[in-house]
Parts: sequence; structure tokens; C-alpha cells
Amino acid sequence: MFKEKRMIPKRQMGRTGESAAILGFGCMRLPLKGPRPEDIDLDTARGMLRTAIDRGVNYVDTAYPYHGSARDQGGASELLVADALSDGYRERVLLATKLPTWLVEKRSDMDKFLDEQLKRLGVSRIDFYLAHNLNSSVWDKLESLGLGEFMDSAVKDGRVRFPAFSFHDNFALFERVVKSHDWAMGQIQYNYLDEDFQAGRRGLRLAASRGMAVVVMEPLRGGFLVDHVPPGPREILSKARPDWSLPAWGFHWLWNQPEVSVVLSGMTRPPQVLENLDLAGAWTDGKVREADQKAVSEVRQYFESRMRTTCTSCGYCLPCPSGVDIPKNLGFLNQYHLFDAQEARDKCKYFYGIQVDGPERASNCVGCQECLEKCPQHIAIPDFLERTAEIYSSAGRPGPDRTGGGKGRPGASRRGRPPVRSGRAPAGRRLGSVWSFCGRSSTRGTPVVDYLTQPGRGGT
Ligand code: SF4
Ligand code: SF4
Repeated sequence: MFKEKRMIPKRQMGRTGESAAILGFGCMRLPLKGPRPEDIDLDTARGMLRTAIDRGVNYVDTAYPYHGSARDQGGASELLVADALSDGYRERVLLATKLPTWLVEKRSDMDKFLDEQLKRLGVSRIDFYLAHNLNSSVWDKLESLGLGEFMDSAVKDGRVRFPAFSFHDNFALFERVVKSHDWAMGQIQYNYLDEDFQAGRRGLRLAASRGMAVVVMEPLRGGFLVDHVPPGPREILSKARPDWSLPAWGFHWLWNQPEVSVVLSGMTRPPQVLENLDLAGAWTDGKVREADQKAVSEVRQYFESRMRTTCTSCGYCLPCPSGVDIPKNLGFLNQYHLFDAQEARDKCKYFYGIQVDGPERASNCVGCQECLEKCPQHIAIPDFLERTAEIYSSAGRPGPDRTGGGKGRPGASRRGRPPVRSGRAPAGRRLGSVWSFCGRSSTRGTPVVDYLTQPGRGGT
């Protein structure tokens, strides 16, 4: 299936003494052979992972809920990783998985989940154990329950080699977290649109200055920087570098920063693996010129001026009790605002009608606010859904909301609903993912139009 190519360059993982290939394998968007997230196509996924390892990838990232239907249960990703890393592959990689922090109620839960994950992964030790998705809603509780002490004891008794965390919140909290413990690694959302968002470049540099490795997630912003770059920005990029693909722009911008240890890609199909391996294998320091940085800045400005939400389609806000597919709707909201032409906007409505099933529609939001606390981007979800419902009230196939069966009304005002308490999109940052516009609700893993099967796409 794959041919041999150049090995991938490695970088030091902070002060751990380990080094890792600049491309890491994220196991959250593996290929499926059925409608459920658990239905991983095992043969293809195993082949992808092993091919990447054979070409030099040595950082494998998974997490307790990946490829599961519910965030309170273990998904299928850790099990797939256990399978793929048999036959001697385990010894060739740094294995990372994550404590499901939102399920931790007491100190003993931390040990319970770690022990369960060791069993699920079929290993006696995890290299990097991350406190998953640290943000303001969980941090104080975890700190008071003794997260740092738990990490120390897990290192001491040999179940974990390096304590780490993944992060989705602002720089101020990032700074607090980084300084709270002797962390070996931090994983941040970072890409050329998010330079000043969440931990951002400041966070990257702070962590690196403390000797931490930094692993980057969302390098292509959930696929957005590949599939939904409009003609204007595309032209800016192709004029600067006719031979660079859109994934190349995303990866090169990151690899150009020495503080970045590993860039994770959640690869879904073999062609993505090949493309990303080729990009990583061809990377040499100094490749990004000043003119390239200028081109990226122009593209960033373009998007900042057009997008409405910072949604990354992470799915942490789901499930919505009313059945609204929040990331899909916010993706359509962003997509609608990318283009001025009525023709393009009509097309958005057409796709909304096809791709957003009745109960999933924004108009079914009743403003209960259950989703607000869960969103790492602090998006005012009900407000943005209200705008989405207004825009798409005339879109295609009617849902139960438009046939009397739903809880909401198309274009309804939120009058009478509880006021939104939090979740404003950060001022001056109006970026967002349109991942769902391509027909895939990333959290459900149910491709409608699976663009990832096409060659030349660069993962997420
Ligand atoms: S506010 Fe709306 S989208 Fe959020 S959980 Fe409630 S009904 Fe669902
Ligand atoms: S609204 Fe927030 S939690 Fe929901 S998918 Fe978007 S970024 Fe994630």
C-alpha cells in the first residue's frame, strides 16, 4: 500500500531526554467502516499507523473518549492503538494518552482511569500522560484534588514516564497551569490562524522556556485550512509558493518554530498519511522565508475579517439535549460569511438543507445553556445558533422545527429563554472551523461526503 521514503527529522522533547519526529499521529479521526465512531476500519487504521511508524513517526496520541459515542465511556481509539502497537511497534514509539478530567470527581478517580487505560492499551507504562482539556471549568477542581501529586506518584510508581496536559483556554490560565507543576509537556491548539488565540505563540514560548516539550494539535484547524480556503487567500499563498500545498503551508508554518516539538495530525485516510509523511520527510529548517510569513499574515487578516465563531469542531459541547449538532451549525454560520456572492450563500443553504438533519438544526436550540460550560473556546453558542437559524430558516429540507415537531422555531428570537451567561467569542478573534460544511460532523465520525477519501488532503 505504501512505498518507502525519507525518514522524518526529529526534535528534542524539551528536557525529557527523548526526541520525536516532527509529525505525530493523532488517533481521533481514524477511518471508519460503519456509521458509529466505534466502527474503526481496523485493517486500514493499523496499516496507516504502522506505515507512519516505519517512516519515522514515533509519537502516537490517543485519549480515553476518542472514537466513542459518549464522553463518559472509553472509545475505540485506545483499543485500536493497542492492536496497532503490537508486534514490536510499542517499543518504537512514545505513547500518549489522556486522563478524562471531566469525569474526575475525587483523587482516586485519577488512579482508576490511569489503571483502566493501561489495561485498554495493553501496556505497563504510558510515556506521556496528559490531563485532558484543561480549562477554567475543570482546573481549580483538579488542582484541589491533587492532580500534581497524582502525576508525581504515577511517575514514581512507573505507570507514567512524563506528566503532561492538553489545554483549551486563555493565556492567563495557561500560565497558571504551566507554573503549577513540573510538567514535561503541554499540548496546545496552534496554527497560523491561532497565533494569538488560547495559549498561542506566547504560551508556546513560555512552555519552551521552562524546558517543556510542546505538542501542537489542530495544525490545520480541523481541516479548515485545507478545504475551505477561498480563492483570494489561495491565490496569495500560491503566488508566494506555487509548489506548496495548503497542508504544506500549515505544517511549514509550525515546523518553522523551534519551540514546536511535534505537530499532531489526525489522519483519516492512507493518502493523507502519505502526503504528510512526504511533507515531514522533506522538511529542512529555514524553509519558510519572510515573504512566506507575509503571505500567511495576509491570509490570516482575510479570515479574521470574515469568520464569526472560533469553533474548532472539537465536539466537547455535545450532546445537546435538544439534539442540535452545534459544530455543524457553527461551521455553516462561518461558511455563510466567507462569501459575499448571493450564489455562494444560496449554495450554503442548499448544503445546509441536505446535510443538517431536522433535529440537528440551529432552530431547535431552546437556549438551555448546557453547552456553554463545556466549550473550550467560550463561544456564546445559543446566540450564534440563533443567528444560524435566522440565516438558514429557508434552507432545503424542513426539520421537525418547521413541521411542528421540534422545540424551537426557525428564526425565533431568544426572548423568553434564559440570558446567556458566558461564552463570548474573544474580541478581535472571529475565526472558526467550517469542518462540518464538507459534510462530516467530526464528533460523530459519520461522513456524508467524505472528502478525506480524496488524495491530496492533509489531515486535520
Ligand atoms: S443552549 Fe441550545 S445548543 Fe446549547 S445545549 Fe441548550 S439547546 Fe443545545
Ligand atoms: S462550540 Fe465549542 S465545544 Fe462545541 S464544537 Fe465548537 S469549539 Fe467545540
